[in-house]
Amino acid sequence: MQVATGKSVLNGIAIGKIKVFRAPKMEISDRLVEDVQAEVERFQAAREKAIDQQNNLYEKAKKTAGEESAEIFSVHVMMLEDDDLIEATEEIITSQKHCAEYAVKEAFDNQAQVFAAMEDAYFQARSADVLDIEQAVLNALLGIDEDSLQGTEPAILMAEDFAPSETVRLDKSLLLGMITREGSTNSHTAILARSMGLPAIVQCKEAVEDWDGKLGIIDGYNHCVYVDPTPDLLESLTKRQKEDEAKRALLAELKGKDNTTIDGTTVKLYANIGGPSDIGLVQQNDAGGVGLFRSEFVYLNSKDYPTEDEQFEAYKQASLIMKGAPVIIRTLDIGGDKEIPYLGLEKEENPFMGFRAIRYCLKNRDMFKSQLKAILRASAFGDIRIMFPLITTVDELRDGKALVEEAKSDLRVSGIAFDENIKVGVMTETASSGVIADMLAEEADFFSIGTNDLTGYTMAADRGNGDVAYLYSPFQPSVIRMIKRIITCASEAGIPVGMCGEAAANPMMIPLLISFGLTEFSVSAPSVLKVRKNIAKWTKSEADAV
Ligand code: PEP
Ligand code: MG
Repeated sequence: MQVATGKSVLNGIAIGKIKVFRAPKMEISDRLVEDVQAEVERFQAAREKAIDQQNNLYEKAKKTAGEESAEIFSVHVMMLEDDDLIEATEEIITSQKHCAEYAVKEAFDNQAQVFAAMEDAYFQARSADVLDIEQAVLNALLGIDEDSLQGTEPAILMAEDFAPSETVRLDKSLLLGMITREGSTNSHTAILARSMGLPAIVQCKEAVEDWDGKLGIIDGYNHCVYVDPTPDLLESLTKRQKEDEAKRALLAELKGKDNTTIDGTTVKLYANIGGPSDIGLVQQNDAGGVGLFRSEFVYLNSKDYPTEDEQFEAYKQASLIMKGAPVIIRTLDIGGDKEIPYLGLEKEENPFMGFRAIRYCLKNRDMFKSQLKAILRASAFGDIRIMFPLITTVDELRDGKALVEEAKSDLRVSGIAFDENIKVGVMTETASSGVIADMLAEEADFFSIGTNDLTGYTMAADRGNGDVAYLYSPFQPSVIRMIKRIITCASEAGIPVGMCGEAAANPMMIPLLISFGLTEFSVSAPSVLKVRKNIAKWTKSEADAV
């Protein structure tokens, strides 16, 4: 048996085969070839294989996401059949005698750059498509089968780290747990694991590829992974896993109950989601609404800009399933660690401080307006609210609200129904928004405190960097003061104030939040009933004394 330690993102046990999730390696070595004809044939065979794959993806996407979403795969096929691109690749093989892999990389990268340099946003976005098909051809040349990365059996997946765009593609029904060598307990991989109730260990530096196929146990309570466990350990941790299930069954008895302290202070308790497919868990755990719909996952799930109609469908579906309960949709929060290839964002020195979230949206107004229109249209079907991420100035809030008004008048002109009184709130997750919370509160309909980023931006500590994790705590006095200030400013202005960062589920944070006067908690769906139980342990006066 081998024991490796790391950091746990969830108290729980996962038992199963470990599957090493190998991200395709794109190290292309240049080789000179003698038989150029044979190399051209290798390229052609790989290209044919990539075309077959894109055709299959087209059929699959048509069934699951509709014709419009599938269309991008036929564009990929057209690109793979483009004579100029084929000729450019073959030319590098025949005249310079480079191997097919090198030629593909050169010719496709060049083509991608040509698209990226174009003025028109549509053509710029095609750059990511060329890179996508380049990868497909390279995978075929290198014999990498993308479909086998996750495997077909339930498993604990292990990787260096998972990008948010990778996590959205994972088949969640086959995921037992996650192990990463990098990452942090606050990364989006960790948030995904928590939202699904999956045990996961990050920063497991001793994890090795050799674990592939071996039996593993993630012990989230003790921050470790056991590989090839002894029969005794397997037995005792299987028992612990069953006890956890029994506890979950006990928590289930809290379904239908209020979120009330012993002495009668009642708060709202919502759940965070990434899309309509997460709502099953929200309902199973009896959350009173959706306190944070991370709309960027609708974008990450898509190969290209989702159309207004596609977004409208996702938001409407969420609202209909929630049967009129509140659904707070956070507008596109892109950048930082959330990259969306087709947006063509430039690499930045300091992406977390850079051109992201509301900053990006306010500069890409057509795209932003189409999202706002989609949200507004969906608001005719339930209690939908809009929330802007990463607000740092009052002007950003005013500008965002002005665009909401523009989107409303467009819809009025077209005679499309929407909620005229839709609430527009601010996600207070930057140090600046905390400091000017009084000014923002005068113009916002509500606040939701995003402690995941608020902690990082207040402490100047990257939420994803394990080396500064000792600074990254919502219990740091400066963060607590910031939280208290935001809640006080909201209360004084008479607007509701929630918390949708992970800290809202922390049992030690809960009494503080009750004492400060938080009105809404929004947590990962599997945490909802635990938070209800914790709220019910306190009286307001005990909480005040903490
Ligand atoms: C936050 O920053 O607290 C938050 C909830 O948003 P995200 O984790 O998506 O940045
Ligand atoms: Mg955030």
